[in-house]
Amino acid sequence: MRGILLFGPQGSGKGTQGEKLSAWLQLPLVVTGNIFRSNIKSGTALGQLAQGYIQRGELVPDEVTNQMIQQRLAEPDCVNGFVLDGFPRSVAQAEALHNFTTVTHLLHISISDAEAVRRIAERRTCVANGHVYHVLYNPPKQAGVCDSDGSPLQQREDDTETALRRRLDIYHRATEPLLNYYRQRQLVFDINGEQLIAKVWTDIQAIFQTV
Ligand code: ADP
Ligand code: ADP
Repeated sequence: MRGILLFGPQGSGKGTQGEKLSAWLQLPLVVTGNIFRSNIKSGTALGQLAQGYIQRGELVPDEVTNQMIQQRLAEPDCVNGFVLDGFPRSVAQAEALHNFTTVTHLLHISISDAEAVRRIAERRTCVANGHVYHVLYNPPKQAGVCDSDGSPLQQREDDTETALRRRLDIYHRATEPLLNYYRQRQLVFDINGEQLIAKVWTDIQAIFQTV
């Protein structure tokens, strides 16, 4: 069983590397932001609840988010493990996670805030499944179209500099302290995110080739 957490600030490459890791290890990729966004799109009660928080760049309350993740990780495809992107984001969420599953690795991808701002300004995501591109650093084969599923690419509504700065601030205040929680449990693998996408990926693969 491999319970893998992707951890790092906005723009560090969690989505980009998560797609690769999930395909390589054949484990489901669970992305909290994508679950919220697809619920908003289809107008579910969960989506309606989450929408305002997400637009403002604030965290959705724990009771909503924790239950959503608990249910998702209980699905049969997670029996051999999972790659989880976007959860936990606070010590309270980490403690909740600890009660319903096992974490074996936390991959901590670090970049500076300045690099986050540069990357997020030109990030594009696919409408259907949230696949991630960058206009310059990781362009799709055909402009505006997802390589994986052919759906249109768009800029996320919350990828404005103001909303991003708020999310980075929450990351540094509420989420980053979680590293200590996991370091004490010796589950943290540190990765330099300010390298080419291909090099970050080689560094991640090396972790699973030796551990
Ligand atoms: P996160 O999920 O951590 O917010 P993403 O994977 O969405 O990060 O990446 C943010 C943006 O930066 C995307 O546009 C992506 O294509 C681009 N990106 C990801 N990794 C790198 C990298 N190592 N170098 C340059 N750009 C990158
Ligand atoms: P980012 O990491 O770039 O902020 P995500 O796509 O991971 O974007 O998440 C989008 C939004 O969904 C967040 O700004 C937040 O409102 C909400 N969200 C995602 N994960 C969580 C979480 N673990 N707890 C609370 N809210 C969350």
